[in-house]
Amino acid sequence: MLLEQERILVAEYGRRLVRSGLTTGTGGNLSVRDPATGYIAVSPSGMDYGDIGPADVTVLDESGAVVDGGRRPTTEWAMHLAFYAARPDRHAAVHTHSPAATALACLRRELPAMSYLIALSGRDAVPCAPYRDFGTPALAEAAVKAADGCDGVLLANHGLICLGADMAAAFQLAEQLEFCADVYMRCLAAGQEPVLLTAQEMDRARAQFGVYGQRGAALT
Ligand code: 13P
Ligand code: ZN
Repeated sequence: MLLEQERILVAEYGRRLVRSGLTTGTGGNLSVRDPATGYIAVSPSGMDYGDIGPADVTVLDESGAVVDGGRRPTTEWAMHLAFYAARPDRHAAVHTHSPAATALACLRRELPAMSYLIALSGRDAVPCAPYRDFGTPALAEAAVKAADGCDGVLLANHGLICLGADMAAAFQLAEQLEFCADVYMRCLAAGQEPVLLTAQEMDRARAQFGVYGQRGAALT
């Protein structure tokens, strides 16, 4: 099967999307790009995530032509492809309809540096793209333009999309930004704006993430 590993990832992480509360029903979509061929494995449109197996994942080329798979691809395929075209070093994308990020996107506000975790996006704030109809080239264009190199972007009155070097990174960013949006909305609900971190504090957080967890020098 063409891009078998990438298709398995899309199917598996689709189920995680639902388990983690990052979407409801058939909302949201995911993709993985194979750096060797440039082909992109995308989730099928409107299918229950529990029913999606690797064979249901559609493989597209960089122009959006179907290379393999019998399912109609996600309506947001143009948005996924537009991000890959803009970001050659990113190979996975996760689009969520997660509640807190979507609430913030309904307010058409950015997600500012209210936590050091925002640094995972590569920027000091996660921007909000203007509203465009779902599944349109206009949404793809608006999202890439608003992101301007950030690995996450809120989609007005819709949701969130996150990029990563791989699927684990894109998914982890989506989870962390949803957490941050939830905390931020709680601050706003308390009638106050949170104190934001400074540019220097965010720079230090980004540097720390460079060696966080099991990255960096081995112990022995
Ligand atoms: P698809 O089922 O076509 O992926 O659409 C879901 C969605 O989130 C549209 O923005
Ligand atoms: Zn959507």
